[in-house]
Amino acid sequence: MPVPAPGQPTLFGDDPGRAPATAGPFARVALDTPVRREFSYRVPPEMAGLLAGCRVQVPFGARRLVGVVVGVDAHPPADVAPGRLRPLARLLDPAPMLTGGLLRLARQIADDTFCSWGQALAAMLPAALRRDRPRRTVPTVELLAAPDQAELERLAERFPKQERAIAWLKQAGGPVEVRDFCNRTGLSKSPLQTLAKKGVVRFGRRREFFDPFDGAAVPDVPPTLTPAQQTCVDAVCAALDARVHEDFLLHGITGSGKTEIYLQALERCLAQGRGAIVLVPEIALTPQTVARFRARAGEVAVLHSGLTDAERHDQWLALREGRLRVVVGARSALFAPIPELGLIVVDEEHETSFKQESTPRYHARKVAQERAELEGAVCVLGSATPSLETWAAALDGRVRLLELPERVAGGKLPSIEVVDMRSEKADKEHWLVISEPLRRELEGALSRGERGILFLNRRGFAPAWHCRGCGACVHCPACDVALTYHRWRKKAVCHYCMQEAPEPRSCKGCGGPVNLVGVGTERAEDTLKRMFPRARVARMDRDTMVRRESYEEVLGAFGAGELDLLLGTQMVAKGLDFPEVTVVGVLDADTALHHPDFRAAERCFDLICQVSGRAGRSDRGGKVVVQTWIPDHPAIRAAARHDFPGFARGELAEREEFGYPPSAGGVRLQFEAADLPKVERMAREARDLLLAVAAPGTQLLGPAAPPVEKLKGRWRRQILIKARPARALLPLHPALYELCQKQGVTVDRL
Ligand code: ADP
Ligand code: ZN
Repeated sequence: MPVPAPGQPTLFGDDPGRAPATAGPFARVALDTPVRREFSYRVPPEMAGLLAGCRVQVPFGARRLVGVVVGVDAHPPADVAPGRLRPLARLLDPAPMLTGGLLRLARQIADDTFCSWGQALAAMLPAALRRDRPRRTVPTVELLAAPDQAELERLAERFPKQERAIAWLKQAGGPVEVRDFCNRTGLSKSPLQTLAKKGVVRFGRRREFFDPFDGAAVPDVPPTLTPAQQTCVDAVCAALDARVHEDFLLHGITGSGKTEIYLQALERCLAQGRGAIVLVPEIALTPQTVARFRARAGEVAVLHSGLTDAERHDQWLALREGRLRVVVGARSALFAPIPELGLIVVDEEHETSFKQESTPRYHARKVAQERAELEGAVCVLGSATPSLETWAAALDGRVRLLELPERVAGGKLPSIEVVDMRSEKADKEHWLVISEPLRRELEGALSRGERGILFLNRRGFAPAWHCRGCGACVHCPACDVALTYHRWRKKAVCHYCMQEAPEPRSCKGCGGPVNLVGVGTERAEDTLKRMFPRARVARMDRDTMVRRESYEEVLGAFGAGELDLLLGTQMVAKGLDFPEVTVVGVLDADTALHHPDFRAAERCFDLICQVSGRAGRSDRGGKVVVQTWIPDHPAIRAAARHDFPGFARGELAEREEFGYPPSAGGVRLQFEAADLPKVERMAREARDLLLAVAAPGTQLLGPAAPPVEKLKGRWRRQILIKARPARALLPLHPALYELCQKQGVTVDRL
């Protein structure tokens, strides 16, 4: 935005006789509030030359807020008397912190996700640049001396929260970040503070992220590409050389050498003097991943959730100032201020973690394509099991499809055996957990000194208590979900609010006896240890991985051959590359299918393929056993055949028939309030508002109770809007913008 030169006439500045307080220029500032508008301020003389993209401090009511200048005008806004405009309080950046491309991108995100420009901008900036006083350290807490059993029991009686805090810290086995502690346990800091006063725990500070990315060295010699890889690299490099925007889908089975394509494209991009962004799911952001990029692209910035504000800030500035030109990171690295962006890679683009579940509720895959388009960059989306959105785009040519149908170096995909759990003999105690075919495979592998990975996406010992009398489940008092038994705590735990209750003795409804049903990771670990007493077993889930370091420690031990079997939730499903793993077991393939979500089948298919991909990464081959109660489900049958295109064909036809993405556009509105009548009223009013403006082609479903009707004591209702074609939603946008500024309403694209 041009700033008028001194002396150049502006509407108010040209008349020295008028109050100088009304003189321009004027800045439009986006603030981190839900209100969808810009706020105007006068630019004081000492800030002359102010540019869009700079952060400023502004008066806002009695407060001062940090905002981003999105425009500088010679003229005051039409709707405010210029004399009433207050001046900007402080300029925080001598040069724009956000590039023009990022400002525009934020605007698009705001329009697309129904939030304000300022909220979208706030999501782009590292916290240190959003706050006045960035945190330099991360607070931690550790257990000093655990009280003896008698003392613990007394504590559990009178101060159960303190006892719970001690149990978790003991489980962690070292200093834990306080925010991780609170996340995992559902406790606030206050029991910790009490315990600190008693000298039982100690607070500390971690100054820096222990840099797990140091030292890990990998060879930096590029391998000779396979012909299929060469074709992919050529296509991406041609687009880079042409310096035009193009989107690619790199569809390559697990172990087909996709990373090598990213690396060679990255090298070309750097040789052109441009920078790049590589997005990976948070969980795949391991030292190994980062080391591979460092070995070939030199020093790279890394952005992930474990950094302190100060560290993020440093990385951000290094990119902004051009000292580093490549960033490898999780979702938010997408907003790295790289001045001349040539390439964006989104690895594992189908991953749900690329969707942000707080404002702004963007999807990194979509925004990556938008940013690439705005900045004339090439976008490469990679996956073995692409999202159906991307796959549909590839089929109709909006995204260019590149394929790697084989594993490198002649490796074969493992064979997959589907075990029908209904026909398993229920003669042994372990039959529910480990079927006979899986037991045999594991036994064979262990006897040959090979390793196994077992996947079960459910933590705890058993996921529910059923009443033998009336069949009811034992529920959380605050949430509409069944309580899970955690044996290490001897407690019933709610996985939504993390509150604990004593083990139920009988059914609340009919007083009948209750039974534990189902299998969680804690029980599976127990079964494995009893089945293979000599095997070294480790469990990876949110209960055992409390410290951030734990994940790397266990994987390190597994890689070094100190463990034989690795059992876990999603944490073991992705990206692990251990050639000694020859057996993979999916203990309950149906878990994903039980979610009432139109993407349930897609998730189930992805999971089986991803977990299977951990097996047979060497010439020893591999075997996958998938245990299921619904062996005929199309997702399970297609996964067993390694048939992504076949699965996608059937699934796309269903989405078409029922009007779900990618065939149609959709929005979900969620309402929540402390009492049921209130939330019902909110939802009905919203429906009426929307119905009044809905265009033909839109369908409104609800208000209805969502799958979890009550959460942490708050009631919920939802409305689903389906639109075909997707642009039929447009007339609803103003109403949706208005709704999502309200308390207790979230609006999200499907
Ligand atoms: P994906 O990301 O598709 O699962 P990776 O990129 O991790 O696969 O590659 C799997 C393994 O194959 C890695 O160890 C990688 O170093 C190796 N690799 C990749 N390309 C080649 C090649 N052309 N020749 C030999 N080895 C390769
Ligand atoms: Zn609960």
